[in-house]
Amino acid sequence: MHDEPIDPFNGDPADPAAGLHDPGDESLDPLSDVERQDVLEDLADLEIYQALLTPIGVRGLVIECEDCREPHYFDWDLLRGNLRHLLSSGRPRVHEPAYDPDPDHYVSWDYARGYADGVHDTLSEGSDEEPGSGR
Ligand SMILES: [Zn+2]
Repeated sequence: MHDEPIDPFNGDPADPAAGLHDPGDESLDPLSDVERQDVLEDLADLEIYQALLTPIGVRGLVIECEDCREPHYFDWDLLRGNLRHLLSSGRPRVHEPAYDPDPDHYVSWDYARGYADGVHDTLSEGSDEEPGSGR
């Protein structure tokens, strides 16, 4: 049982923050700083998308695979696992798309990003009279 929501990566060997504390293992990590930053941003975006989209029935993202040239459907947990794997190993994980997915429940990164932007705009408009409530 885990009931510490503050750091979801706590104790995880793939903790993306671990690299920030320990710059000494760069030789084991072929990801450049820029690439690593991209993955970290994707992970952060993923948290937002999952929080926003899960309530409307979205289970994950669909990604057009460059190798198979067909869409793969990834649950949120799977996406997070893949990104953390990329951080720790420097290589994308082999395909583990969701089993027998229902395409209706998956959206593209672009859709998720657009949705998050829309929600953000709505929240920004509504919070004008509450200075200090956001950041
Ligand atoms: Zn593929």
